[in-house]
This record gives sequence, C-alpha cells and structure tokens, in this order.
Amino acid sequence: MPPKKKAIKNAYFYFMEQYRDDRNRKYPNDPISMKDAASLCSPLWQNMSPEEKKVYEDVAKKEKLKMKGMEVKFTTTGLQVSEVEREERERVENCNRMKEEIKNTVQGLSLTGLLEKKFYFIHVNYFCECDGQDFIPAEIGVSRFSLEEGVSECYHSIVAPGNLPIGYTYLAQKHSEETHGIPIPPSDIGESDFAKIFEDLYRFVNEGSANDEILTLYTLNEFQPCVMNFLQKLTNVAGHEGQVFKVYDFVQLFFELRNKSASFSGGEGFPVYSISETEIETDIFAYIKEICCYWHEGSEAPQYCSQSRVKRWGFHIADHCCRDLNVTLLPGRHLPSTDKYWNDKPLEEFQMISTRKKKVVADDAKATGCTSTSAGTSDVKPLRQPKSMGIAVSQLMAKEDGPPEFNDWQFPPIGKRIGAKFSRPS
Ligand SMILES: [Zn+2]
Repeated sequence: MPPKKKAIKNAYFYFMEQYRDDRNRKYPNDPISMKDAASLCSPLWQNMSPEEKKVYEDVAKKEKLKMKGMEVKFTTTGLQVSEVEREERERVENCNRMKEEIKNTVQGLSLTGLLEKKFYFIHVNYFCECDGQDFIPAEIGVSRFSLEEGVSECYHSIVAPGNLPIGYTYLAQKHSEETHGIPIPPSDIGESDFAKIFEDLYRFVNEGSANDEILTLYTLNEFQPCVMNFLQKLTNVAGHEGQVFKVYDFVQLFFELRNKSASFSGGEGFPVYSISETEIETDIFAYIKEICCYWHEGSEAPQYCSQSRVKRWGFHIADHCCRDLNVTLLPGRHLPSTDKYWNDKPLEEFQMISTRKKKVVADDAKATGCTSTSAGTSDVKPLRQPKSMGIAVSQLMAKEDGPPEFNDWQFPPIGKRIGAKFSRPS
C-alpha cells in the first residue's frame, strides 16, 4: 500500500494549530481539540488584518513547497532564491526588449529620418548612495542631439537636495572630492525646487512629442540606477502617477546609429556591441572645459560635469557617423570648437593649414614687437572629416587580419592625433 498522501494545509489551519497549542500551554488542565479550536478561531480569523494573516499565509506557502520537494532557499540577504531568479529573468527580458526597441527605432529610419531624429542623453551626479538604491542628487545634464544638428541644446541644473540623511556627510564629502567636486549640502548653490526641475526637464525633452508618450532618455548603464532614481523622485514630486520617462542604454543606441550610418555609405559598421562600449570608454573629449556647465568650467574636474558628459556623448556619435552621411560638421555641436579637434585636414585642405601657420608666425611677430606683413588669413576653420572607423575597430582589425586596408584616406584616431604627425598613403 502506498503511503497516505499528506493533505496540503491552508493558512487558517496553521492559525488554528497555533491557537490550540498556545491555549493548551496556558491551561494544561483543560485541553481543547482542533475541532474545539475551529469554532473558537473562526470569528478571530475574520477580524484579523491582511498583515496579520500574511504571517500564516507565508507559513502555508513554505510548507506547501516543502511537501512538493521544493525547499525554499534564501539568499544571504533573506530574499528567496526563486524571487532573485525571477527578478534576474525579468531584468534580462527587459534588457532584450529595450535592445529590440532601440534597434527597431534606428533601423526603421529613412536617411532624412536618421538625420533629423532627436535623441536625449542624460547624466546625473550624486552626493551619496543610501541603502544601495537611493541616490542624493547633485547635478543633472540633458542634451538634445541629432546627426544633422549635433548637440543643439542642453538642459542643466546643479541640484540642492536638502539636508543629507544622518550619517552620510562623510561619504558625500568623499564622493564629491573624488568626482564632481560640487559642495555638499547645505550650500548656497543649486535648485531645490524639484517640481521646477521636473517641469523644465519635461518641457525640454517633450518638445515635439505626443503628450502621452513615455519619453526616452539615454545614459550609460553604470549611471542608470542613479538617473532612474532621480527621475522617479522628480515624477513623484510633480504628482504624476504613470511612467513619464524611460532610461535606455546609450551604448546600444551608439552601436545601432553607427551601423545604420554605415549602411548608407557601404562603410564599416561596429561588428559587436562591445566595440561601441570601448569607443565610448576612450572618452577623448573628457577634459574640454568649454563644454562644461558654468560651475564646472573653472573646476579641476571638468570630466565629471553632467553637462560635459551628455555633450561629449553626442560628439562621439557625430565623430563616428557623420562622415558616412555627408553631414557638414558644426564646431561646438558635432565636435568641440577647440582648435585641436579641427586641424586635421583632408588633402585638398592642406593649403589652408599652411595659411594658418603663417598667421601664427605673424601673430608671434606682433607679440615680440616686430612688424611684419601678414599673409592673407582666413577665419574659416577647415573642418576635419569625421572618422568612420573607431579606435577599437582599428585595433580589432589590426589584431585579426593585420593592418586594416582603407579604400579612402582614413584619419588617425583623434586621441592619437593631437600634435601627432601622420603620413598619407600614396
Ligand atoms: Zn557641471
């Protein structure tokens, strides 16, 4: 005969069992049975709050799984392993959905659509991270970018988040000193009105969108928790119930834009996602002060400025994509207007370089008090053509197939180009 199958008990059963045991311990001379307990417990159970009942529901759930041979495992933080696994599965699914959406957005564009499509990049600096998920914001920067116009406008604000949570002063001070350098609160700089920040940001990003659309902002994965946390705070303060913003992976967008641009010229795209990641990590425009906010312009750490970050992400895309699309580059919008980023010329513009060199010589002469008839100078800066192939791609190709062969004159990577001599293939 097979062993009798044990009945699965519900939450109410465990409550009754506990009631009976408690009572029998209290009055050992007048014990009651489970049947007695049932009649006594029914009115009590009906008056219990959902929280009180939950204790017994959890016991029942756990016992049920145990009987089915699915012992509940807990992680060191007390979360059920199955819960963690479910969250991880959800995360992967969301990530795949996001990738698919970015891909479809870019792939579906015509050439004109690709040139005109506006993207918004966001970065948030913070003072400290509390309990692993709450960030105390310090600065926000958002840029509007299209391939045709480059970084056309920015929204920026230093944030005054109110007092720091108790016990976090040291961490905030340390994080500030090591990164953005913004004085920790309370200080007299920054916008403290979160509703105003929300309103300004919403107006900036919503331009041209249908009103009920969820607005997409792009950032690097490492900044996503902080950005999402701050946007949620802003949304809450503004009293919005639904989702207003979504935050997507900037690198994925870069990857798709590069490949889409290459498809129009027949050029080389990025073979894999990690190449776009490596390209962004080179961060060649990090120390340009002119792209910083008013506060970071005079700071020792311009590379941490939120405004600078969102601008240079746009420059990176422009630098990799515009050449394939024959876009005329605009100083300060597609690349920093700083001279050194514009002084590499294709062959036909060599003449203009020498003209400028003559001007420098002439200016030096003036400075030393010598007069000299200056050569005819031009204020027009010859614009460097953007490179279509990245540092990482070149390295990859060099590693696998020997030096890459270019069918067009390629410029050395920007990072290696400053002041560097380069030779032209014959
Ligand atoms: Zn800044």
